[in-house]
Amino acid sequence: GEDLRGKNVTVAGLGVSGVPAAKVLAGLGAHVTVVNDGDDERARAQAAELAGLGVTVRLGDGDTLPDGAELIVTAPGWRPDKPLFAAAREAGVPVWGDVELAWRLRDLDGRTPAPWLCVTGTNGKTTTTRMLASILEAAGLRTAAVGNIGVSLLDAVLGDTEYDVLAVELSSYQLHWAPSLRAHSAAVLNLAPDHLDWHGSMEAYAADKGRVYEGNQVACVYNVADKATEDLVREADVEEGCRAIGFTLGTPGPSQVGVVDGILVDRAFVENRQKNAQELAEVSDVRPSVPHNIANALAAAALARAFGVPAGAVRDGLRAFRPDAHRIAHVADVDGVAYVDDSKATNTHAAEASLASYESVVWIAGGLAKGATFDELVTRAAKRLRAVVLIGADRALIREALERHVPEVPVVDLDRTDEGAMAAAVAEARALAQRGDTVLLAPACASMDMYANYNARGEAFERAVGELA
Ligand code: ADP
Repeated sequence: GEDLRGKNVTVAGLGVSGVPAAKVLAGLGAHVTVVNDGDDERARAQAAELAGLGVTVRLGDGDTLPDGAELIVTAPGWRPDKPLFAAAREAGVPVWGDVELAWRLRDLDGRTPAPWLCVTGTNGKTTTTRMLASILEAAGLRTAAVGNIGVSLLDAVLGDTEYDVLAVELSSYQLHWAPSLRAHSAAVLNLAPDHLDWHGSMEAYAADKGRVYEGNQVACVYNVADKATEDLVREADVEEGCRAIGFTLGTPGPSQVGVVDGILVDRAFVENRQKNAQELAEVSDVRPSVPHNIANALAAAALARAFGVPAGAVRDGLRAFRPDAHRIAHVADVDGVAYVDDSKATNTHAAEASLASYESVVWIAGGLAKGATFDELVTRAAKRLRAVVLIGADRALIREALERHVPEVPVVDLDRTDEGAMAAAVAEARALAQRGDTVLLAPACASMDMYANYNARGEAFERAVGELA
């Protein structure tokens, strides 16, 4: 265990990870100073609460390294190019994120730490992590989905609940700040440009994702269809005997999991030596049963199998799994048209997977583009597009890409960002849709121009559809 008693620890950033981290560190006897950029009412309230625990808080000064600092524990979202970290480098002060802190404290007080099965990737992390937890539960293991979702890692590691194994979702930010994390096994689901302003480049983003494989003990799970993930496995320094396991929507090769005649099949961890493959579940056990989600299920299954979970538990766990809201959620059928809410498709890679799930789509898209370009998405989705309805701040970027590549597809450009915009978009979509079509909200953009978050956007869509039915 890590002895932090009497150490001068700087916590960078109040908020969801900083406040609990400061409390834990103070409880361990560290001298804690929190530095925070903002100085608003909420920050002051948090500062007052922490002061009661002997924590010093500096508001409105997130970039000055406190004198004598020996360690920084940072909120994962803090950018590596912040001056605070340059100062830390200069002074030789290590920087840990929330995940690193949890990792270092996992065997505190002589606890036996639960192994971590980690999931990262540009898209599908939450779904895969929840599927994995469901499979582990079906195997009778004490587990939880933790990390970037649900329970925080610090709570999972230090709380009273005992776990046999943890299903851990990790963002690229968290991985950036987790230099000594060593998973039992880990999966990188896919790799597409996202958050590049934060990481600085695609190479840096990929390298941070690849950190999840470093030191893996049993399996590095990669996506056969996404060579970049396989490259990361090759570059990783792993424990002896650790295997590279691919997942594929096609027929699996040796050391792969895949699909044969509608059955999820494992050729990597085969129990019966007489056979060279183990049947795990039916494709229809996966909900929703669309290609990218079957890939998520295969990745979850591979991690569970690496942990020794029997085939029957994979099937039971997948059957018991319920997708989170606003992820390819079928809302209603109206006049022979299906309405699907994939508000969580907040980048082009996600929207591409979403669009690829349907034959003929009236696509509702738009919002904040976060620097993305839409040419590739529009080209790849071209043959599925019945029509497009655009909303939100950056809709012109999508409209221009459509004009460039598929000028024949009808586009309704709704010049509005008000409260009634989604209902208007749904009404336009209904008018454009024909029997058998899917009206799909898969915005390929963030929601903050019009909504508090993707949940609120999805709810607006579901309400508008509810009014049609
Ligand atoms: P994350 O936690 O990585 O954001 P989610 O499981 O919440 O991932 O899914 C987010 C969105 O990404 C989904 O709504 C869907 O549009 C898309 N998606 C899910 N899985 C995949 C995948 N394997 N490949 C591409 N897109 C995916």
